[in-house]
Amino acid sequence: MIRWIAFDADDTLWENEIYYQSAQAALVDVLGKYCNGVMVAQALLDTETRNIASFGYGIKSFGLSMIETAIQLSNGRISAGDIQSILEKIKEMTGTAPQVISAVPETLSILAKNYQLLVITKGDLLDQERKLQSSGLSSFFTGFEVVNGKDETTYRRILERYQIPLDQFLMAGNSLRSDVLPVAAIGAKAVLVQHELTWEHEKIVNLNLVNHPYYEIATIDLLPQLVDQINQELK
Ligand SMILES: [Mg+2]
Repeated sequence: MIRWIAFDADDTLWENEIYYQSAQAALVDVLGKYCNGVMVAQALLDTETRNIASFGYGIKSFGLSMIETAIQLSNGRISAGDIQSILEKIKEMTGTAPQVISAVPETLSILAKNYQLLVITKGDLLDQERKLQSSGLSSFFTGFEVVNGKDETTYRRILERYQIPLDQFLMAGNSLRSDVLPVAAIGAKAVLVQHELTWEHEKIVNLNLVNHPYYEIATIDLLPQLVDQINQELK
Protein backbone atom coordinates (compact mmCIF):
# COMPACT_ATOMS: atom_id res chain seq x y z
CA MET A 1 0.00 0.00 0.00
CA ILE A 2 1.19 3.49 -0.87
CA ARG A 3 1.26 5.63 2.28
CA TRP A 4 3.75 8.34 1.27
CA ILE A 5 3.55 10.54 -1.82
CA ALA A 6 6.48 12.80 -2.70
CA PHE A 7 6.29 15.64 -5.18
CA ASP A 8 8.85 17.44 -7.23
CA ALA A 9 8.35 21.23 -6.89
CA ASP A 10 9.50 23.17 -9.98
CA ASP A 11 7.08 22.67 -12.90
CA THR A 12 5.16 20.10 -10.84
CA LEU A 13 3.66 22.20 -8.01
CA TRP A 14 4.47 25.64 -9.41
CA GLU A 15 5.68 27.17 -12.65
CA ASN A 16 9.45 27.56 -12.91
CA GLU A 17 10.85 27.05 -16.38
CA ILE A 18 8.71 29.90 -17.71
CA TYR A 19 10.65 32.36 -15.48
CA TYR A 20 14.04 30.91 -16.50
CA GLN A 21 13.07 31.17 -20.17
CA SER A 22 12.04 34.78 -19.62
CA ALA A 23 15.47 35.48 -18.05
CA GLN A 24 17.12 33.78 -21.01
CA ALA A 25 15.14 36.05 -23.37
CA ALA A 26 16.45 39.06 -21.43
CA LEU A 27 20.00 37.72 -21.86
CA VAL A 28 19.39 37.37 -25.62
CA ASP A 29 18.41 41.07 -25.66
CA VAL A 30 21.52 42.10 -23.72
CA LEU A 31 23.77 40.08 -26.06
CA GLY A 32 21.95 41.10 -29.26
CA LYS A 33 24.93 43.05 -30.58
CA TYR A 34 27.27 40.06 -30.21
CA CYS A 35 25.29 36.95 -31.26
CA ASN A 36 21.85 35.47 -31.95
CA GLY A 37 19.32 33.75 -29.67
CA VAL A 38 20.21 30.21 -30.72
CA MET A 39 23.85 30.78 -29.78
CA VAL A 40 22.83 32.22 -26.41
CA ALA A 41 20.51 29.25 -25.67
CA GLN A 42 23.20 26.69 -26.50
CA ALA A 43 26.02 28.49 -24.68
CA LEU A 44 23.88 29.07 -21.58
CA LEU A 45 22.83 25.40 -21.42
CA ASP A 46 26.48 24.33 -21.82
CA THR A 47 27.60 26.73 -19.07
CA GLU A 48 24.80 25.68 -16.70
CA THR A 49 25.56 22.00 -17.24
CA ARG A 50 29.30 22.55 -16.67
CA ASN A 51 28.60 24.62 -13.54
CA ILE A 52 26.36 22.04 -11.82
CA ALA A 53 29.48 20.37 -10.40
CA SER A 54 30.66 23.67 -8.85
CA PHE A 55 27.43 25.47 -7.96
CA GLY A 56 24.66 22.85 -8.04
CA TYR A 57 21.15 23.66 -9.27
CA GLY A 58 18.97 26.69 -8.69
CA ILE A 59 18.73 30.42 -9.03
CA LYS A 60 22.22 31.48 -7.86
CA SER A 61 23.88 28.90 -10.09
CA PHE A 62 21.72 30.10 -12.98
CA GLY A 63 22.66 33.74 -12.34
CA LEU A 64 26.38 32.97 -12.35
CA SER A 65 25.94 30.96 -15.55
CA MET A 66 24.11 33.89 -17.18
CA ILE A 67 27.01 36.23 -16.35
CA GLU A 68 29.67 33.71 -17.45
CA THR A 69 27.82 33.17 -20.74
CA ALA A 70 27.59 36.93 -21.30
CA ILE A 71 31.33 37.37 -20.77
CA GLN A 72 32.12 34.46 -23.05
CA LEU A 73 29.79 35.38 -25.93
CA SER A 74 30.84 39.05 -25.87
CA ASN A 75 34.51 38.06 -25.81
CA GLY A 76 34.85 39.99 -22.56
CA ARG A 77 33.32 43.19 -23.96
CA ILE A 78 30.10 43.06 -21.92
CA SER A 79 29.70 46.28 -19.91
CA ALA A 80 29.26 46.52 -16.15
CA GLY A 81 25.86 48.10 -16.84
CA ASP A 82 24.75 45.07 -18.84
CA ILE A 83 25.97 42.70 -16.10
CA GLN A 84 24.00 44.82 -13.64
CA SER A 85 20.86 44.33 -15.76
CA ILE A 86 21.39 40.54 -15.66
CA LEU A 87 21.72 40.71 -11.86
CA GLU A 88 18.53 42.77 -11.64
CA LYS A 89 16.69 40.11 -13.63
CA ILE A 90 17.88 37.38 -11.22
CA LYS A 91 16.87 39.48 -8.20
CA GLU A 92 13.48 40.06 -9.79
CA MET A 93 13.07 36.27 -10.08
CA THR A 94 13.87 35.76 -6.40
CA GLY A 95 11.25 38.38 -5.51
CA THR A 96 8.46 36.86 -7.59
CA ALA A 97 5.97 34.43 -6.00
CA PRO A 98 5.71 31.40 -8.29
CA GLN A 99 2.41 30.71 -10.00
CA VAL A 100 0.94 27.54 -8.52
CA ILE A 101 -0.02 25.08 -11.26
CA SER A 102 -3.71 24.54 -11.91
CA ALA A 103 -5.51 22.01 -9.62
CA VAL A 104 -2.46 21.54 -7.36
CA PRO A 105 -4.05 22.86 -4.10
CA GLU A 106 -7.23 20.81 -4.65
CA THR A 107 -5.22 17.66 -5.45
CA LEU A 108 -2.95 18.06 -2.40
CA SER A 109 -5.99 18.67 -0.22
CA ILE A 110 -7.56 15.37 -1.37
CA LEU A 111 -4.34 13.37 -1.00
CA ALA A 112 -3.39 14.86 2.40
CA LYS A 113 -6.44 13.18 3.95
CA ASN A 114 -5.04 9.68 3.34
CA TYR A 115 -1.32 10.03 2.71
CA GLN A 116 1.78 11.67 4.14
CA LEU A 117 3.05 14.18 1.59
CA LEU A 118 6.64 15.25 0.96
CA VAL A 119 8.39 17.65 -1.39
CA ILE A 120 11.71 16.52 -2.86
CA THR A 121 13.30 19.25 -4.95
CA LYS A 122 16.67 20.28 -6.30
CA GLY A 123 17.77 23.88 -6.26
CA ASP A 124 18.84 26.63 -3.95
CA LEU A 125 17.71 26.12 -0.33
CA LEU A 126 16.75 29.75 0.35
CA ASP A 127 14.94 30.17 -2.97
CA GLN A 128 13.03 26.87 -2.74
CA GLU A 129 11.93 27.56 0.85
CA ARG A 130 10.83 31.05 -0.18
CA LYS A 131 8.79 29.59 -3.07
CA LEU A 132 7.19 26.99 -0.78
CA GLN A 133 6.14 29.69 1.70
CA SER A 134 4.80 32.06 -0.95
CA SER A 135 2.97 29.24 -2.77
CA GLY A 136 0.61 28.76 0.19
CA LEU A 137 1.09 24.98 -0.09
CA SER A 138 3.46 24.36 2.84
CA SER A 139 0.79 23.14 5.29
CA PHE A 140 0.07 20.08 3.12
CA PHE A 141 3.55 18.62 3.58
CA THR A 142 5.13 16.52 6.33
CA GLY A 143 8.62 17.22 4.98
CA PHE A 144 10.42 19.49 2.52
CA GLU A 145 13.71 18.13 1.18
CA VAL A 146 16.03 20.32 -0.91
CA VAL A 147 18.73 18.10 -2.37
CA ASN A 148 21.80 18.62 -4.56
CA GLY A 149 20.77 15.99 -7.07
CA LYS A 150 18.13 13.31 -7.50
CA ASP A 151 19.60 9.89 -8.09
CA GLU A 152 18.91 6.46 -6.60
CA THR A 153 21.17 7.15 -3.60
CA THR A 154 19.33 10.39 -2.80
CA TYR A 155 15.94 8.67 -2.81
CA ARG A 156 17.21 5.70 -0.74
CA ARG A 157 18.65 8.12 1.82
CA ILE A 158 15.38 10.08 2.15
CA LEU A 159 13.30 6.88 2.48
CA GLU A 160 15.67 5.68 5.18
CA ARG A 161 15.50 8.98 7.07
CA TYR A 162 11.68 8.96 7.12
CA GLN A 163 11.66 5.15 7.63
CA ILE A 164 9.46 4.64 4.57
CA PRO A 165 9.38 1.08 3.15
CA LEU A 166 9.95 1.00 -0.63
CA ASP A 167 6.49 -0.42 -1.32
CA GLN A 168 4.81 2.48 0.53
CA PHE A 169 6.45 5.25 -1.53
CA LEU A 170 5.35 7.03 -4.69
CA MET A 171 7.10 9.99 -6.34
CA ALA A 172 5.42 12.36 -8.83
CA GLY A 173 7.18 14.95 -10.98
CA ASN A 174 7.70 16.41 -14.43
CA SER A 175 11.24 15.14 -15.00
CA LEU A 176 11.84 11.65 -16.30
CA ARG A 177 15.53 12.06 -15.45
CA SER A 178 15.16 13.26 -11.85
CA ASP A 179 11.70 12.35 -10.55
CA VAL A 180 10.79 9.14 -12.32
CA LEU A 181 13.60 6.86 -13.52
CA PRO A 182 15.75 6.79 -10.34
CA VAL A 183 12.65 6.11 -8.21
CA ALA A 184 11.44 3.33 -10.51
CA ALA A 185 14.98 1.92 -10.49
CA ILE A 186 15.03 1.46 -6.71
CA GLY A 187 11.70 -0.40 -6.92
CA ALA A 188 9.27 2.30 -5.75
CA LYS A 189 6.36 3.75 -7.74
CA ALA A 190 7.00 6.75 -9.99
CA VAL A 191 4.58 8.99 -11.88
CA LEU A 192 5.55 11.37 -14.68
CA VAL A 193 3.28 14.43 -14.56
CA GLN A 194 3.53 16.08 -17.95
CA HIS A 195 4.46 19.75 -18.26
CA GLU A 196 4.84 21.45 -21.61
CA LEU A 197 7.93 23.36 -20.48
CA THR A 198 10.73 21.18 -19.15
CA TRP A 199 14.34 22.31 -18.89
CA GLU A 200 16.52 20.77 -21.65
CA HIS A 201 18.91 19.37 -19.03
CA GLU A 202 16.09 17.25 -17.54
CA LYS A 203 15.44 15.63 -20.92
CA ILE A 204 18.82 13.87 -20.92
CA VAL A 205 18.13 10.55 -19.23
CA ASN A 206 20.28 7.70 -17.98
CA LEU A 207 19.59 5.06 -20.62
CA ASN A 208 20.46 2.28 -18.16
CA LEU A 209 17.31 3.16 -16.20
CA VAL A 210 14.70 3.44 -18.96
CA ASN A 211 13.50 -0.16 -18.72
CA HIS A 212 11.89 0.27 -15.31
CA PRO A 213 8.12 0.71 -15.53
CA TYR A 214 6.48 3.97 -14.45
CA TYR A 215 3.11 5.71 -14.74
CA GLU A 216 2.33 8.85 -16.72
CA ILE A 217 -0.50 11.38 -16.34
CA ALA A 218 -1.27 14.55 -18.30
CA THR A 219 -2.33 16.66 -15.32
CA ILE A 220 -1.87 16.43 -11.57
CA ASP A 221 -5.60 16.21 -10.77
CA LEU A 222 -5.49 12.63 -12.14
CA LEU A 223 -3.11 11.56 -9.36
CA PRO A 224 -5.62 10.65 -6.57
CA GLN A 225 -7.45 8.27 -8.90
CA LEU A 226 -4.17 6.71 -10.07
CA VAL A 227 -2.95 6.17 -6.48
CA ASP A 228 -6.30 4.54 -5.60
CA GLN A 229 -5.90 2.25 -8.60
CA ILE A 230 -2.31 1.33 -7.64
CA ASN A 231 -3.41 0.57 -4.08
CA GLN A 232 -6.26 -1.65 -5.38
CA GLU A 233 -3.71 -3.59 -7.45
CA LEU A 234 -1.41 -3.96 -4.43
CA LYS A 235 -4.16 -5.40 -2.19
MG1 LIG B 1 10.56 19.74 -11.98
